[in-house]
Amino acid sequence: MKRLLFAGLAATFVLPAAGAAQRPTPAPQLPPPDILEYRPESTLVVPENFVPRAKFPVVDIHGHPPTLDNPQAIAAVVAAMDELNLGVIVQARPSSGEQLRSQIEAVRAAGVEDRFVFFANLDLRNVGPGSGVRIAAQLREDVAAGAVGIGEISKNFGLRTRKADGTRLEMDDPELEIVWETAAELGIPVFLHTADPSEFFEPLDYTNERWLELAIFESRRFMDADRFPHFDDLMAERDRLIAKHPNTTWIVAHMSWYTADLGRLGELFDRFPNVYGELGAVLYDLGRQPRFAKQFFERYQDRILFGKDSFQPSEYPYYWRVFETEDEYFDYYRDYHAFWKLYGMGLSDDVLRSIYYENALRIIPNMPTAHFPAGG
Ligand SMILES: [Zn+2]
Repeated sequence: MKRLLFAGLAATFVLPAAGAAQRPTPAPQLPPPDILEYRPESTLVVPENFVPRAKFPVVDIHGHPPTLDNPQAIAAVVAAMDELNLGVIVQARPSSGEQLRSQIEAVRAAGVEDRFVFFANLDLRNVGPGSGVRIAAQLREDVAAGAVGIGEISKNFGLRTRKADGTRLEMDDPELEIVWETAAELGIPVFLHTADPSEFFEPLDYTNERWLELAIFESRRFMDADRFPHFDDLMAERDRLIAKHPNTTWIVAHMSWYTADLGRLGELFDRFPNVYGELGAVLYDLGRQPRFAKQFFERYQDRILFGKDSFQPSEYPYYWRVFETEDEYFDYYRDYHAFWKLYGMGLSDDVLRSIYYENALRIIPNMPTAHFPAGG
């Protein structure tokens, strides 16, 4: 920045070289606050545009509402959806057999079958010889009952799930090939959550951007190489799985946790035209790079799907605000995720429609369309 600004004066000003060491901070004369105490209040006064309701109807493809098997739960979720302008929620708390059928029936009985669709569960426990055939048969049954996708397959697949012989179930295990090919044949997407933010796999020292979150949640620490594969190894394994199944539609949850490095995500999209990215729980990364992220969204607008993950109605408007406005320097809803402020990306209507509902209606079969603009 400085270099550009003073380019014409380079002869008179000696500018520090990029990456030159900063001068050390003088020692404070007062005792410094700890990481939890220091909460400076911004003095910045700029326009604020809160967005309680999305500009266009939205498909939340990463929905985790409660189990939708009773009228009370359904009515509470629909009321929140109406306020937020969520047209359809994909129930990505996956179910199978009776649990799937009872939700589909309850939603029909409540007269809101145009607001919910259901993804099927895969029972990946204790995989051994014959498991693939059995899982694929259950999948056919669940799709016949009304399921329109698979997942969310949890991060345990790859991280923790064991085979019957006690070894880690590798994501590209040949036993499961029939399952992914069955998904391709049935024309349903596979919604796959792999790993967690890369910082969770790195040493827990004071340079780790997620230090506080990792200090709070023991269950998010995956840096022990004796117990967990590394982030990059999991992604390489996931990529081998995708490479083997070019006719299967893959939705990678949380944009593959690549939002701090959108170039890497672009390479994934370029390499695999059958891969889509889902936006849940990565808003803190997009909102700190609004210009670059906007360029990325424009380029890959056909590959990005809105998803929220945890069903907290009060949190959705943060997404609408980042995507729709050009607001500056505002708070995220969870301070242990991000020690920084967010900025609006100011996405065009065209891009908003793509990521809010058009892509989801295109790649998920039998989507109800009543709540979306015709032709969209
Ligand atoms: Zn999820």
